Amino acid sequence: MKKTILVTGGAGFIGSHLCDSLIAAGHHVICLDNLFTGSRKNLTQIADHTEFEFVEHDITSPIHLGERAIDQIYNLACPASPIHYQRNPIHTVKANTIGVIHVLGVARKYGSRVLQASTSEIYGDPLEHPQKETYWGNVNTIGPRACYDEGKRVAETLFFDYHREHGMAIRVARIFNTYGPRMALDDGRVVSNFMVQALKGEALTMYGDGSQTRSFCYVSDMVRGLIALMEKDDFTGPVNLGNPNELSMKEIGEVIIRLTGSQSKLAFQPLPQDDPKKRRPDITLAQEKLSWTPTVSLEEGLKKTIEYFREAVR
Ligand code: UDP
Repeated sequence: MKKTILVTGGAGFIGSHLCDSLIAAGHHVICLDNLFTGSRKNLTQIADHTEFEFVEHDITSPIHLGERAIDQIYNLACPASPIHYQRNPIHTVKANTIGVIHVLGVARKYGSRVLQASTSEIYGDPLEHPQKETYWGNVNTIGPRACYDEGKRVAETLFFDYHREHGMAIRVARIFNTYGPRMALDDGRVVSNFMVQALKGEALTMYGDGSQTRSFCYVSDMVRGLIALMEKDDFTGPVNLGNPNELSMKEIGEVIIRLTGSQSKLAFQPLPQDDPKKRRPDITLAQEKLSWTPTVSLEEGLKKTIEYFREAVR
């Protein structure tokens, strides 16, 4: 059935792929974005589609969408890369508090089902490994990552309080590291940085000794997971979405150098404060409840992403 779906942060990396999928499935999509880290370029393929609307707006200001039906809302509006969310930390907190209250207000007004893009960052520098949804996390409340980590934690709290107080249909996805085409060249995250550096023949900026781990999920798998969660009845989450294939930053650097055929070396730089030492999702819950599992291998996903960056760095 055709639905009207609001995607906040829809001009971003994951958001734009989500908009593509929803348009392809025959829905009407309202994409709302302040273009702080998102870009209109990510939307060129659907910009002129009759079922696509773009609204330039920041969720920290009240959201007015007129008299209409809105069946579902995906709230992806928030800078997600450490360098970007730390650039204006107070605004990051506002997006996750005032902004989330505005989004939940819209969902309440229209009776929409609303999904929050939460994050593995709510686990902080985890003392439990791999991370299950039942783990409460280890977050420094006053460090440079807190604006995002604590912001995303209180956003989950708001979702569950609106659910309990107003009986709203909520969904909470905890998104682990995701990569793919349309990551911004200046995104600052490891996969895009390493690819751009390798393709330009520059040294790869390895923070710390490169022994810290992450687990990388290709964007098409992530979008499928988000839609599966939204469509699932009688299940709020929180649920981890990510690929449990864990590797160190040194390993991912080596794979990217190999796949790009680059001669780049590594340039070791200081590890940023509070950088999590390891991260890997336990995705048993997503597999059981959503019958979802990532299918794109690291090598396949990295190759597709390299193709994109080869064009983008020209
Ligand atoms: N990282 C790195 N070089 C870079 C960018 C990131 O070594 O140019 C490291 C970073 O310190 C972290 C890991 O890669 O340990 C993942 O960082 P990213 O910013 O991609 O994501 P997050 O820390 O949010 O998982």
